[in-house]
Amino acid sequence: MRDIEKTLERRARRDRREKHRSIESMKAAVLSSPAAISNRPLRIQDVPAPEPEPGHVLLRVRACGVCRTDLHIVEGELPVRREALIPGHQIVGEIANGGQPELPAGMRVGVSWIGGIDGTCWYCRQGFENLCDAPTFTGYTVNGGYAECALARADFVFPLPESLDDLHAAPLLCAGIIGFRSLRVAGVQQGDRVGLFGFGASAHLVIAVLKSWQCKTYVSTRGESHRKLAASLGADWVGSEHDKPPVELDRAITFAPSGDVVVAALSSLRKGGVLAINAIHLDRMPQFDYDRLLWGERQIRSVANMTRQDARDLLRIAAEIPLHPKVTLFPLDQANEALLALKNDAIDGAAVIVP
Ligand SMILES: [Zn+2]
Ligand SMILES: [Zn+2]
Repeated sequence: MRDIEKTLERRARRDRREKHRSIESMKAAVLSSPAAISNRPLRIQDVPAPEPEPGHVLLRVRACGVCRTDLHIVEGELPVRREALIPGHQIVGEIANGGQPELPAGMRVGVSWIGGIDGTCWYCRQGFENLCDAPTFTGYTVNGGYAECALARADFVFPLPESLDDLHAAPLLCAGIIGFRSLRVAGVQQGDRVGLFGFGASAHLVIAVLKSWQCKTYVSTRGESHRKLAASLGADWVGSEHDKPPVELDRAITFAPSGDVVVAALSSLRKGGVLAINAIHLDRMPQFDYDRLLWGERQIRSVANMTRQDARDLLRIAAEIPLHPKVTLFPLDQANEALLALKNDAIDGAAVIVP
C-alpha cells in the first residue's frame, strides 16, 4: 500500500508539471511479435504520442487494468491485427484535449474493450452493438492503454463516478462490465443460486453484484488464495476445481479459458438452467454426454463483448454498492511481469498498470 501511495504521489506531481505541455512522445509497452509471456514480448519504449483525430479524444492514461484477453493477444492466441500494438483495454484516463463541450479537458473517463462500432451493420441496427460485424477493439485493432497516452472514440468513453478512484475503476472497465454482462446473458434473477467457476478479476467483482441481488453464490476454483478471497468476499460455498457445488445451480458462469471447466459447470446445472461462458478463447471443447448434461432445456451461451449500456449500468451499480476491487499495482515498465503473474494465477483480484 505504501508503494501505491508513493506511485500516486509521483504521478500527481508529474501531472501538475505536464498539464499545460503538449504531448509529443510517450512511454508505451509495445508488442511487435506475439510470444509466450515468459519471453517478455512487450518492449517498453518511447514512441510518438497519438495524433488527435476528429471524433476522438486524447487521454492521459492514469491507470490501465490487465485482462486475460491481453494475455491471449500478447501470446498470439488471438490473430495479429496490427504490426506494432500497444495492448490494454481497461483505461482510466483524463481528457487532454477534448474539443467537445460534454467532454471537457480534465474530465476523467473510462475506455473498455469495445472502442467503436460501424453503426450500420444488421446487428448495430437491431441494438446488438456487442455483436457488430466491424467493431474496433481497444488494445487489439487500435492501440490501447499500456502507455502514457491513448486515443479513444469520443462516443465510446464513459465518464467515471467520483466515488470510484483510478485504480479501483480500471478493473471495472472490462472484468467488471463483461462479468456483469455474463449475469445478464445467464438470466440471473434476484435470489438465484449462481455458480462461479474460476475466480479471477471478473468473478471477484461479479460476486459483489450477486450479493447485492441476494443471490446464493457457489465458487469452484483452483488456487488456495483464490478460494480464500472468495470466502472473504462472502461466497456461500467454496470448493476446488474438482469439487461439485452441494446444490443444483440455477445459473453458472465460467471464467477459465478451459472447456473442461465448462463441462464441470454444466454438470451442476438444474433442468432449464443457463450456463454463460465468459471467455474469448477456450483451449478446446471436450465431448460431453448430451442426455445427462444438456437435455432438460439446459442452455450454454457465450458472452461476447459488451454494449455501452452494459458499461453505464455497471458503473452506476458499482458506485451504489460500492464495488471495491482488490488490486495489485504494476508500473508500466513491468507490463510483462503483470501478464506473467496473471498467467500464473498469482494475482488475487485484478492487476492494474500505472504509467
Ligand atoms: Zn455494426
Ligand atoms: Zn478484457
